[in-house]
Amino acid sequence: MKTLFEEIKASIKNNYNQDRSFWRPVLPWGGVFTIKAGRKAVSCTPLYVEIRLKNTCTIDGFLMLLYVILNENENFPRELSLHFGREFVDCFLYLMDTYSFTTVKLLWIWDKMEKQQYKSEVYKASLVIDLFGNEHDNFTKNLENLMSTIQESYCSNWRCPTRVQEDQQRTININPPQEIPHGNLIRLAVDELFCSKIELCEEHGCGGLREFSQRVFCHGAPPFVVLNMQHWKSEDLAYVPYYLDLSDHKYYTCLPLSSNLQILVGRCHVI
Ligand SMILES: [Zn+2]
Repeated sequence: MKTLFEEIKASIKNNYNQDRSFWRPVLPWGGVFTIKAGRKAVSCTPLYVEIRLKNTCTIDGFLMLLYVILNENENFPRELSLHFGREFVDCFLYLMDTYSFTTVKLLWIWDKMEKQQYKSEVYKASLVIDLFGNEHDNFTKNLENLMSTIQESYCSNWRCPTRVQEDQQRTININPPQEIPHGNLIRLAVDELFCSKIELCEEHGCGGLREFSQRVFCHGAPPFVVLNMQHWKSEDLAYVPYYLDLSDHKYYTCLPLSSNLQILVGRCHVI
């Protein structure tokens, strides 16, 4: 039997005439997982318990993308194991390869998500897990320290009460530029977050100049990054550049996910 990835590759080849950029694989919505009671549980009714998943669209697209990325890049499973754990990555790939979609979602929910991120309720003999929310909360925020970045800044004024500052972020939030500049808006906004710069110190009454260092990844450049662009208008994301530089590493843009305004970028092998 072909693995899911082989099936995906074959379907791309078969649809060669169609516009491939519109091809966007997503896991099937929802899912029902049945747990059978063991032999010792003869006296209890029912003999099986169902777990029903609702509103899984907040993870369906990204789990599929994660699978495709891991298959397309030989080193990524090993690199991602450093953040997610080897067992998780192996289990994830095996479940996806074998089309066990509901189980792979449960793996994500129980292994990576925090309890308060989903609502669960018991309805008759089934447990319902509701993933209502957005992809940033339910997927991106749970990528451990994969995308952690840090930027330091120093104020030129020796008497500044907060002379040395450190700004550490776990996700990458790209804010739209405040003025309307010339050039590519997305590239400029990414540079605004990552590049070194000098600005007036915001400390009240300081008046010094604050020098920001380049923002760097805390644990090395990750294999892929999700840019959270929730504050953008969707029309601004119509023209996404092919490449983006993040902290001296070149990333190619995989997919603008316009439904919730997030962009996925993967690291380039050759720079
Ligand atoms: Zn200052």
